[in-house]
Amino acid sequence: MLAGKVALVTGSTSGIGKGIAEALARAGCSVILNGFGDADEIERFRAELSEKYGETVGYIGADVAIPEEVRAMISDAVQDYGSIDILVNNAGIQFTAPIEQFPEEQWDKILAINLTAAFHSIKAALPGMRAKRWGRIINIASVHGLVASTDKSAYVAAKHGLVGLTKAVALETANDGITINAICPGWVSTPLVEKQVVARAEVAGMSFEEAQNRLLAEKQPMLQFSTPEHIGELAVFLSGDAASTITGTTISMDGGWSAR
Ligand code: NAD
Repeated sequence: MLAGKVALVTGSTSGIGKGIAEALARAGCSVILNGFGDADEIERFRAELSEKYGETVGYIGADVAIPEEVRAMISDAVQDYGSIDILVNNAGIQFTAPIEQFPEEQWDKILAINLTAAFHSIKAALPGMRAKRWGRIINIASVHGLVASTDKSAYVAAKHGLVGLTKAVALETANDGITINAICPGWVSTPLVEKQVVARAEVAGMSFEEAQNRLLAEKQPMLQFSTPEHIGELAVFLSGDAASTITGTTISMDGGWSAR
């Protein structure tokens, strides 16, 4: 379906990014992975994807919090793989605290990784997409790009910013064969959420399962997690022909969270 396209997925060594990378490889893309983690595990995942789907799968270990590394990642990818046709800005972190206690360095880090990295990657990747008159940019925002929760000021601000960036770039690329959209997941079971469940279980003195059920019940009317695989399939849809006039929008996959 996407044969011959080259996709770069930031933060694809874990969770949602892994699901997106796999779905794009299954759809026929060459895929460039990015993210932190154990070098052997990353190599195992890279080799497994390549073998399973018969596609080229690479890895660039850039730290997206550092603008020079983002720019180098884009230019290295174009040089080594020919182009970046599909750019998925997925790398993200979370930190929770009331605003008066929110550490300033955590604010800076969340904004750098969850928002500013996408500015730099989009800025660097767009000239190549414009030249080919084809491109897909998918920003993994969050339901927190649409609504807020307590103790997540930096995350909510960054994700609302990412939705705004998505809209602005959509207008600037509307007639260039390029689309840009934001996916807004609710709860997805990944290491990022597991850390929050563990912290809640500790504070409330309850089991992991109880804390997980309570987490879902507070926000997500459909009492189940979305999966990285389903988000991957949505990314494939947004990359395909049927989505060629979908741009500048947010697509929720949140079990009804934002319907409240
Ligand atoms: P995760 O912790 O499982 O994975 C995060 C990925 O980002 C990892 O590969 C990590 O190595 C990478 N990363 C972190 N900092 C980086 C940096 N400086 N440079 C390069 N890579 C870096 O998290 P996840 O749950 O899969 O989240 C992925 C995205 O989805 C994030 O943007 C997150 O905000 C968003 N999201 C997650 C949920 C959820 O419920 N899990 C819900 C909504 C949105």
